Amino acid sequence: MTFTTRFAPSPTGPLHLGHAFSALTAFDMAQAAGGSFHLRIDDLDQSRSRPVWEAQIYDDLHWLGLDWPTPVLRQSDRLSRYREALQILWNQGLLYPCSCSRADIRAAASAPQEGAPLHGPDGLIYPGTCRPNTPPTGPMPDTPLRLDMARALTRLDPPLNFIETGQGPEGETGTITPQDMIKTVGDVALARPGMGASYHLSVVCDDADQGITHVIRGQDLFTATQIHVLLQRLLGLPTPIYHHHRLIRDDTGRRLAKRDDARAIASYRAMGKTPHDIRHMIGL
Ligand code: GLU
Repeated sequence: MTFTTRFAPSPTGPLHLGHAFSALTAFDMAQAAGGSFHLRIDDLDQSRSRPVWEAQIYDDLHWLGLDWPTPVLRQSDRLSRYREALQILWNQGLLYPCSCSRADIRAAASAPQEGAPLHGPDGLIYPGTCRPNTPPTGPMPDTPLRLDMARALTRLDPPLNFIETGQGPEGETGTITPQDMIKTVGDVALARPGMGASYHLSVVCDDADQGITHVIRGQDLFTATQIHVLLQRLLGLPTPIYHHHRLIRDDTGRRLAKRDDARAIASYRAMGKTPHDIRHMIGL
């Protein structure tokens, strides 16, 4: 099996030093293994994705010295593929429609009898307001859909582990405790309003369809990986090897974000820095 990895930025702002670290780490590991590196455009959120940022991604990554096979896979072209995957889960009785807004979830999750609201990989853990007692039947509706986590877990034989060659933010490895996922992850959204699919669903389909053997990405996505492994098992898709790497932080220790224009690769380019300088700045 040839080592195959990918870098999957969202075209919603400029790439910064954290993206450079992730892309270069994946590219270097692929080169060292004699494997291949793919670029994928995570443009599922069409309300925030912009062609100008996509063009800047290609430009910045080429400037850094990376190359990749074309055509580049774009998530917005794959909505029917994601729908097929949702249909499989719907047929298994694992999805239910949910039209709760973020405000509804906040209100329900912080109701006094619920205790302190818990946060999971997607923010506040869904309190289960729309979860039916029995799986819905009939055709899958074209509405936002959630995974019934407790029901999904009953369909899988443990263990539900993965191979981690990096580590989580607290030094975690690839051990998943399925029963904890009901409390610490909850019923995640798999089809989102206006987006067809959620990140969790699209990423497992894309990684499988592109033959990705190694997912190399930041530790901020570590807690999402248990959801991805669960979905791979439910959908009969292979689980790649994961490598979660350290995050690049600003001087105050905060993780860099898209709004940190000062640390955008484009800003360093405009200042006359070289790709070598960028590698040096991020310790590569
Ligand atoms: N598009 C995601 C991001 O920009 C990365 C997804 C992934 O690597 O799995 O954070």
